[in-house]
Amino acid sequence: MADFSMELNEDQLQIQKWVHDFSENVIRPAAEEWDEREETPWPIIEEAAKIGLYGWEIMAEGMLNDPTGLTMPVMLEELFWGDAGIGLSIMGSGLAAAGIAASGTPEQVMEFVPQCYGTADDIKLGAFASSEPDAGSDVAAMRTSAKYDEAKDEWVLNGTKTWITNGGIADVHVIVAVVDPELGSRGHASFVVPPNTPGLSQGQKFKKHGIRASHTAEVILDDVRVPGNCLLGGKDKLDERLARVREGKPGNSNAAMQTFEATRPAVGAQAIGVARAAYEYSLEYAKERVQFGRPIIMNQSIAFMLADMATEIDASRALIYRAAWLGKQRKYKYAEGSMAKLKAGRTATWVTERAIQILGGYGYVREYPVERWHRDAKIHDIFEGTEQIQQLVISRAISGLRIE
Ligand SMILES: Cc1cc2nc3c(=O)[nH]c(=O)nc-3n(C[C@H](O)[C@H](O)[C@H](O)COP(=O)(O)OP(=O)(O)OC[C@H]3O[C@@H](n4cnc5c(N)ncnc54)[C@H](O)[C@@H]3O)c2cc1C
Repeated sequence: MADFSMELNEDQLQIQKWVHDFSENVIRPAAEEWDEREETPWPIIEEAAKIGLYGWEIMAEGMLNDPTGLTMPVMLEELFWGDAGIGLSIMGSGLAAAGIAASGTPEQVMEFVPQCYGTADDIKLGAFASSEPDAGSDVAAMRTSAKYDEAKDEWVLNGTKTWITNGGIADVHVIVAVVDPELGSRGHASFVVPPNTPGLSQGQKFKKHGIRASHTAEVILDDVRVPGNCLLGGKDKLDERLARVREGKPGNSNAAMQTFEATRPAVGAQAIGVARAAYEYSLEYAKERVQFGRPIIMNQSIAFMLADMATEIDASRALIYRAAWLGKQRKYKYAEGSMAKLKAGRTATWVTERAIQILGGYGYVREYPVERWHRDAKIHDIFEGTEQIQQLVISRAISGLRIE
């Protein structure tokens, strides 16, 4: 077991610099273009794959070979410092990989995770689909169904997923579906839909406020048949779990929730990457911009704003590292992952808004990156559990009560 430390080890410092350099030299210069194009930045994903920054090996390195839990947040902060839309295009497949790793058997992980990435010469994408038009925060309201066809040992999926990162353009879709409608979210299971499976198609592609380089779309499942081994965890384990729940014994937390819990500190790290980009930019700007004969930073009202921005970012990072470390040691006591994500999302939204204030009119126009960072920041209050859902999780954890 690794001791908790905010000090990064040699490997982490190297990874931090490696990702930072890629962000600075490749992602930042491309950020404005892909934000305007609102398209998946394939050439940048390819560049990332060439240096090993897009691929299952780096995910394994970040997730498995790191006893501290800090490597993933360190990488993500630097990546999203470069650009959140491109960053999510590079990391989106990781959601599918995390979904497979959370519920799959070792054999399923070995088979399907590499298919979410492909190779540098033949890039593939993954998508993780839980949300539905009428089941966002309320995961238990999910309607997408998975029915078992025993004669063929196949599962048949039907339903509509929405807001799915890489939805419809992914090669591998991980779909959370209802196998027993009577059991609410405990009657859910996750399925892999392999590449080119008939019946899966993309619905509407969304035009978004921010992270516009990342593809977000509906996924339609119309009698999608997948082989029995595409049920993550396998049928025996599912049957055991459902039997336990039907007997009123505590079941394992449901499939989607397991994935989200593991990814919350990581999403917090993405948020503070965006916040730090805006903070650093506005700090430099405030030193250079002269009004009333002096740099605007010489006014306490501007300098104190920057002081608060730096403090909020560092406080968020401390919560993220704590949560990532606790998660790795399996020592969560009360919703520390949710706390980290809640704080970091709010920090990113607030810091980027303040950055616009510091730049004045220049902060409000697209010739400068600050308004883009503000648009990109807001998603971190929404996806992977909204601000209010994090509060709900935390309030239940600290009170032991079923707060509604
Ligand atoms: C760009 C983008 C990418 C996404 N990527 C994915 C993805 O890859 N895969 C995926 O499965 N999903 C994805 N999502 C979906 C995302 O996780 C949901 O949008 C989110 O969970 C909220 O659901 P909703 O949008 O339906 O909002 P709702 O759940 O309808 O919430 C609306 C408002 O009501 C509040 N609210 C709801 N319930 C409560 C309550 N009990 N108490 C207090 N307040 C409440 C919410 O906090 C929010 O403010 C993505 C979304 C976006 C926008």
